Amino acid sequence: MMKLSRQFTVFGSAIFCVVVFSLYLMLDHLQLDHTKSPNGGDRLQNGQLSILQDKIDRLERLLAENNEIIANIRDSVINLKESVKDGRGGPDSGNMSQGPYPDLLVSPPLVLPIDSQDCQFAARQFSKPADGVQLLDVYDLLTFDNPDGGVWKQGFDITYQENEWDSEPLQVYLVPHSHNDPGWLKTFDDYYRDQTQHILNNMVVKLNEDSRRKMIWSEISYFAKWWDNIDNQKRDAVKSLVERGQLEITTGGWVMPDEANSHYFALIDQLLEGHQWLEKNLGVKPQTGWAVDPFGHSPTQAYLLKQAGLANMLIQRVHYSIKKHFASQKTLEFFWRQNWDPASSTDMLCHMMPFYSYDVPHTCGPDPKVCCQFDFKRLPGGRVSCPWRIPPQPITDVNVQQRVQMLLDQYRKKSKLFRTKVLMVPLGDDFRYTEALEWDQQFQNYQKLFDYMNSHPELHVKAQFGTISDYFGALRKSAMDPGHASLSLPVVSGDFFTYADRDDHYWSGYFTSRPFYKRLDRILESHLRGAEILFSLALANIQRAGKPNGFPSVESYRLLTEARRNLGLFQHHDAIAGTGKELVVIDYGTRSVVIYNPTEQDRMSVVTVYVNTPHVRVDTSHSHPIPAQVSAVWDDATTASTELSFVVQVPALGLGVYHLSKAEEGGAETAQYLFLRQGGELSLSVKHFTVNNPQDDTTPVSIHNPHLQVWSSATTGLMERLKLKEDGSEHRIKVEFAWYGTTSSRDKSGAYLFLPDGEAKMYSPAQSPVIRVTKGSVFSEITTTFDHVTHTLRLYNVQGVDGQAVEICNSVDIRGEFNREIAMRLTSDLDSKDRFFTDLNGFQIQPRRTMAKLPLQANFYPMTSMAYLQDSGTRMTLLSAQSLGSASLKSGQLEVIMDRRLNQDDNRGLGQGVLDNKVTSNSFRLLLEKRAKTDNEKPSPLSYPSMLSHVSSLYLNHPLIPMAVSTEAGSLSLTRFSPLASSLPCDIHMVNLRTIQSKVRDEAALILHRKGFDCALSNRNTGLLCATTQGKIRTEKLFSNLRLGSIAAVSLTLMHQTEGGSSQEEISLKPMEISTFRVQLT
Ligand SMILES: [Zn+2]
Repeated sequence: MMKLSRQFTVFGSAIFCVVVFSLYLMLDHLQLDHTKSPNGGDRLQNGQLSILQDKIDRLERLLAENNEIIANIRDSVINLKESVKDGRGGPDSGNMSQGPYPDLLVSPPLVLPIDSQDCQFAARQFSKPADGVQLLDVYDLLTFDNPDGGVWKQGFDITYQENEWDSEPLQVYLVPHSHNDPGWLKTFDDYYRDQTQHILNNMVVKLNEDSRRKMIWSEISYFAKWWDNIDNQKRDAVKSLVERGQLEITTGGWVMPDEANSHYFALIDQLLEGHQWLEKNLGVKPQTGWAVDPFGHSPTQAYLLKQAGLANMLIQRVHYSIKKHFASQKTLEFFWRQNWDPASSTDMLCHMMPFYSYDVPHTCGPDPKVCCQFDFKRLPGGRVSCPWRIPPQPITDVNVQQRVQMLLDQYRKKSKLFRTKVLMVPLGDDFRYTEALEWDQQFQNYQKLFDYMNSHPELHVKAQFGTISDYFGALRKSAMDPGHASLSLPVVSGDFFTYADRDDHYWSGYFTSRPFYKRLDRILESHLRGAEILFSLALANIQRAGKPNGFPSVESYRLLTEARRNLGLFQHHDAIAGTGKELVVIDYGTRSVVIYNPTEQDRMSVVTVYVNTPHVRVDTSHSHPIPAQVSAVWDDATTASTELSFVVQVPALGLGVYHLSKAEEGGAETAQYLFLRQGGELSLSVKHFTVNNPQDDTTPVSIHNPHLQVWSSATTGLMERLKLKEDGSEHRIKVEFAWYGTTSSRDKSGAYLFLPDGEAKMYSPAQSPVIRVTKGSVFSEITTTFDHVTHTLRLYNVQGVDGQAVEICNSVDIRGEFNREIAMRLTSDLDSKDRFFTDLNGFQIQPRRTMAKLPLQANFYPMTSMAYLQDSGTRMTLLSAQSLGSASLKSGQLEVIMDRRLNQDDNRGLGQGVLDNKVTSNSFRLLLEKRAKTDNEKPSPLSYPSMLSHVSSLYLNHPLIPMAVSTEAGSLSLTRFSPLASSLPCDIHMVNLRTIQSKVRDEAALILHRKGFDCALSNRNTGLLCATTQGKIRTEKLFSNLRLGSIAAVSLTLMHQTEGGSSQEEISLKPMEISTFRVQLT
């Protein structure tokens, strides 16, 4: 017991410490991707580049301090060792023992045990509801011709009859809002200080002056900061405003997240953070989502808001042609249904704003010249004016009638785009309502207009300030009133990418911009998740051991402050150094490596650590020697250091321990090397390693493992062919690199927009690259060093998941380039035609169609975690460890933009080009799978990855985390730890096990996702030790030494109790479902 507790104290706390840091960094990153409206102040962004530079400098400094920090960690563990010694052989030591299978490799089943019922979900055909709209069909239908629509430039003339509202008046809800972008940390503080706090302070005063006034607020990061700085009296005033319905919190996330690049883990996490804050401090449960600024919208966000218990949502940045079409069909208000939902359980009521922007000129009606005159912040004499050159007028008794007529005309025209006579009109912009004067200008002038409207029944209008939920309440009443059955709203399925705001200005650049941070973000997520889960388990174990006061002790906290820095560094290392390896250095003082498996299935994977000697052996904690490979780390032409790779088996969410020792004989095998350079002599000799001379430098080079064989060109080192050993089939898969330039016209590519100068030009290096071939017992690889890319293809010599895919790593450096973007292109012999598939937020697959009627840049889509293409016999999947933009411009071809360097702003508010490029390491796995042939396969909006693809993606995004532990013989007996009774079912992902600290008793949010998967792909030789169970988990069999004291099904972010198929004894999930359970671990 003691041993368990102590070990957990250190591991749990150490990793927990990273939580705070990770959250901070992740928040930073989400803000990076989230930019300004076209109209809003450029000033927000001005500080960003210098802050980015500071941040990079800081990361680089941290990297330089690495050795010192590693030493600190080692010291921590030496101290830990003393504690652990005390507790050896305690009564519960069995809990730290073997786990469900022995150390030595077992033979996994040849074919995954998948319940045949679990295959039915993905086999289902898509059926469109009667009043349904499928976005893929809309894309087929539209011409994307962009004619001039008159005053509503991207739309059409709207006309109405004067008497249309005679029987039922127009109900107008004017919704005051202020969009507050959380900047970078310093900018966040600056903007809080200069603007946001004044908005909120004035809000309390100005809403209290008149109970008819309303306001909505979204960004909890700002709201929480303000809350910490106000006194109880003001807090009570805010609570009263909420209770009276004058202030509404919308969405309630920590930020308004980007919906293209963010992974669903991060989307859920920031939503949960905001909702938990609201519950604790304000007692508020948001009902309506408000997303006016993300550049394109994902159905994943709709699903998550639905699961969180929200009833309605609003979106804004949608392709102008789609908006126009939806307006003409009166489908701007709809139930957004997930493609994969066989019924209507995911339906989310959604309002799409019809016009160009969320500012006042583009929200009161179709004519911005008129609407601008009703933005009273732009009254003459103020700092902002109307670009249409007709200023607003203060409303007086003299002009009120005429101004009402003007405004009502716009309201009526806008109302014609919707099915009901209830109209929503936003009133706000970026960082609005900072000054008391602005509140008076807007609220007093509008109140005069409303008073006039409401006191003239012949106008047939009822106008008022409202919150967004006030509006949706009225809409529901009107649309769903039994007397109005004909007004029922349509059902829409699909996504709203790729966004264009005008002309050919497609926002596909930001899918890739700053890939360094996109990779960093994914690493942070993986560590944060691991930390959350371990901390929850540690806390429960400590409490079970009856030692809650010792956790965390002052002493361990001091040590762990250093561990926090170190673990923070672990997160940055990959991205900065571009090596793609965990930086664990094994030196003479080290004897053990503790390895954490962040995945929820028992796992066999390769771990690599740096060692300072090639003479080393690896044993399991039970002293069984295991195969290992020592390879050279090629810093330049000659080797500077060595690394050790070995195959480990670690229990689900558990810890494995491996011992390292010096071995002059019979230790790890050294890798063998071969260097090629066409037309050039290369003679190398490296201490400790065998370097062979090529027999013939025109024969393709080849590497293989138990599942695959790869042939690469001897000239470029790039892959040309791939063979599946499963059936002996060979496929042509050619890897190439290509450059995009930017157009010569006035508007050029920038951080958001991709405006290429035509098709890509193939990358051709000035001189033949050096090709290095590594062959070893644990992995083999081919590395080519070009001027701008170091490209590595690696095969792991293991049975199972890691052996089934080709690992691809590109270390990209385009810092010397001018207006260029570099792409990796995979050209295969698959007959995929114009179809391909990308994921949305790592959660679901969205089928895509490449269309000649759209410009090249419109055919790029966000790839958060994977993209694939297929024909009747084969599927080729590129799994990605970072979000990037991807396309399939020709049949059989898949390409990914790796990095972008752009020398100018694209006029979307950033005010800068993209010139802060870092050497960026992008990681992928390439998976080729056999498909069961389907005759007459019709294009469908439904597709799912295979189980192997899901697990490979999980392995890629959640690598094993090795930690070096310094031990002296006999003084410490760390052994493996298996917190789960067994692997979770193959299709169940534990999204998080997050401790909730607001309760008297500690509880945790257990968030589970049941993945949808396609059984029509081969699942042989996956090496997985899991099965599927129709989405059911027996709760008493979940943990090995903990019990679920209580379990309650709740909404995604714990705001509501829910009723579902789950009980105390059994958790049950439907395919694709993400659900949260409030659990008590005892
Ligand atoms: Zn914004």
